[in-house]
Amino acid sequence: MKCPNCHEDITDLRCFSLLWREDRFTVEQIEDGEHIKPKYEPDQICLSEPVNVEFVCPECDAKLFDNEPSAIAFLSGKIVGGQLEKKGE
Ligand SMILES: [Zn+2]
Repeated sequence: MKCPNCHEDITDLRCFSLLWREDRFTVEQIEDGEHIKPKYEPDQICLSEPVNVEFVCPECDAKLFDNEPSAIAFLSGKIVGGQLEKKGE
């Protein structure tokens, strides 16, 4: 596929998104008795659907898409230059 911004041939996109993460939070007394150390234990990695998703060109870092269906269509050759191409027309 050609990036519509830099026109390089690309076969993948960089995908950025925000996720909520949950840890179990406790504190630990360090042996000297004076200091307390916070401790995070991973509970669940992802609590929600990713938000603020961006699909970015790996060559020029241009944001090309903000949703997975468009990114899929692009990487499978169904979008050229940002437009959906209908087969057989
Ligand atoms: Zn590009």
